[in-house]
Formats: sequence, structure tokens, C-alpha cells
Amino acid sequence: MRNESTNQSGKILATSEDFVPTAFNLPGQPPDSGPVDWQIAMKRAIRSSRELREAVGLPPNAPDTPGPDGKLRCEHDFRTFAPLEFVSRIRPGDPDDPLLRQVLPILDEEIEQAGFGSDPVGDLNALAAPGVLHKYEGRALVLTTAACGIHCRYCFRREFPYQETGSRSDDWRPSIDYLESNPDIEEVILSGGDPLTTTDEKLHELLTAIENIRHVQRLRIHSRMPIVIPQRLTDSLVNRLSESRLAVWLVIHTNHPQELSDAVLSRLAAAIDSGIPVLNQAVLLRGVNDNADTLIQLCRRLVNHRIQPYYLHQLDQVRGAAHFEVPVETGLRLLDTLRAALPGYAVPQYVFEEAGAKSKLPISDSSTTVTSQASSDSNVRI
Ligand SMILES: *Cc1c(COP(=O)(O)O)cnc(C)c1O
Ligand code: SF4
Repeated sequence: MRNESTNQSGKILATSEDFVPTAFNLPGQPPDSGPVDWQIAMKRAIRSSRELREAVGLPPNAPDTPGPDGKLRCEHDFRTFAPLEFVSRIRPGDPDDPLLRQVLPILDEEIEQAGFGSDPVGDLNALAAPGVLHKYEGRALVLTTAACGIHCRYCFRREFPYQETGSRSDDWRPSIDYLESNPDIEEVILSGGDPLTTTDEKLHELLTAIENIRHVQRLRIHSRMPIVIPQRLTDSLVNRLSESRLAVWLVIHTNHPQELSDAVLSRLAAAIDSGIPVLNQAVLLRGVNDNADTLIQLCRRLVNHRIQPYYLHQLDQVRGAAHFEVPVETGLRLLDTLRAALPGYAVPQYVFEEAGAKSKLPISDSSTTVTSQASSDSNVRI
């Protein structure tokens, strides 16, 4: 089991009922003068590890970013991208900050680990049409765009060949054609990349095309943008979604209570008030949220703001992310602690994804030894 010292910095594991994160004024940044337009927020995002280290008050090159440009090889493969709105929630001067850890490239990413590959969940085999993954009954996932509002170092699609899969935000027609010709698809999931990096005009176009498909009942939006750049959830976007003939569900992605700033919660409240249910997916990440206090704080803060914890994902084994992996038996113990501390609806389902399976698979405690994630049964047996 991992030692939990990286997260034992006290300040994260607050004991208050409802963890309240602070926005820090970054060195070299003007004090917060209110939110800028989300597209400007994207443009002024931090794009190198050197800049990121400087922004959070760490030495630009230390301790493991060699080379004149201060970049690691892994950073060339998957570049740094972190909007200031997110970076301002990182505690300055703390190399172990749980938010920083999600976005800062480190040397650990370059350690090859058996079993960690480029397509851990078999997405390429599930490509049903250009830009559409169809793995599960009734639900099809549209790779709306390759762009994200943040680059998470553990991302399972960090090596996804978006160009080759036809996921192009300038031409959704082939995806729409597929959805139209498959009457068993009742739910369309907009994913990516992050669908909310697409402009309102383009989203409106896409939504209208989906609304025109009679057999589609529900639209689900998988997005980390409401966490990263909360002003992306503009009133006009929220209105557009709430007026849809489809039942719209918003599934956000946050891993740590420190990500849930007041601005984030207030924009999510606007969505919920307008009738859009909001769920959260988190990934169990070593050094980020692999302790009971953090997970309890996260779930409590979510349900206090009417957001339901949906999934807690076991890490997908993507190359470069092995240092984030938490053993399944640790995850199971954490889930037990969560169940004892929280109402049932506040406890996420602990799941993993197996290539070729018919659904996300629950991880349960049903035998004695951890073998591997690659169980052929419908549960991971431990
Ligand atoms: C995760 C996923 C879904 C959604 O699964 P749910 O269990 O319904 O949340 C749908 N399609 C694909 C390809 C997925 O990876
Ligand atoms: S926002 Fe989601 S898709 Fe984008 S890098 Fe992060 S985990 Fe990956």
C-alpha cells in the first residue's frame, strides 16, 4: 500500500464539515478582477511546465525537468495545459499539491511499466463510425472534439489518435449519420476531448442535429470545463440545454474538493436550478485523492451542492500514468470508509473499464487475492 505522506500536508485534509478552498493570488498575476470570457481564459492558459512551476512559486527547472527548455520528453508528447482559473486553486510553493500533481509533467511519466499502453480501454476497436464510440447498449459516445480545457496527466486518451478517428469538430455529419441510422441509440454522450471547448454556435448546431433524431431521448455531456473554467457555463448555454427536447444530464469531472471553488459551485448551481441534473466522475489517483478524508470531503461537498457522485474510476492503464495507480485493495477499503461516513447516494460506484466489456465493471470485494484488473468475469475478484 502506498504511504499517504504526499497528501498528509494537513491543509488539504481539512476536518471542517465542508472544505472551502481558497483562490490564491499567483506570483506575477494581477489579483483576480473577475472572470474573463472563457475563450480568453483558454488563450491565456499556462502551456509549459516551466511557466506552471513559476506560477505556483516553484523553481522553474527543479528537480527533474532537465534541458534548456525545461521540458521533459513526456511534455513534448502531451503538452502542459492549465488555465489560470484552475492554477489559482493550487497552493503556492507546494510541490505535492493535489491539483498541481494532476497537471504538472514529472519524470515518473517516462518510466515504462508493463501493462500500461496507448489504448487501455480498447477505444479504437469500438469506433463505430468516424468520431463515434459505440460500446454499450443504447448509448453512443461522440468524440466531439480533440481539445480539452486542461491536460490531465493521467488521461486515458492522452495518446488517442483523434485525427485518425475522424473526430473533427468541423464535420460532425458522419457521426450524426451513424446516430440516425441506429434506432437503438436512445442516449448520446458528448465527450472528447471536452465538448464544452466547442463554441456555443457549434454546440447549438450539433444539439439541433441530435434533437432532430427522433429515437434519441437523452443527451449527456461529459465535461471538465465547469471545473476548470467555470464561466464556460454561461447563462445562454445553460438556457439552451434546459430548453432542449432531450433530457440533458451534465457529468462533470473533479477529483479533489480543492477544485470546487465558489465560482465552480455557483455556475453548477445555475445549471441545476435550470433543471439539469449534475453528476460527477472522479478517478482514484495516488497522491491526489487516495485517502478517506479527501474522498469524503469531495463527496460531501458535491452532495451539499446537489451534485451526485457517480463513478470513482480505477485508473485506466495508459502509458505515462503508472505513478497515479492505486491498488484495488486500497480502493475497496476507501469505499468501505465512504459507505460508513456518507449517505448511500453520496457514495460513487467504484468501477473500472475493460476493453470489450458490455459496461463499466463494478469493483467488489468477493474473494481473497488481487490478481489483476484484467479479470474476464464481470467483477474484479479480490
Ligand atoms: C463510459 C462510456 C459510456 C457511458 O457509460 P455509463 O456507464 O452509461 O456511464 C458510454 N460509451 C462509452 C464508449 C464509454 O466509454
Ligand atoms: S479533461 Fe478529460 S479528456 Fe481532457 S485531458 Fe482531462 S481527463 Fe483527459
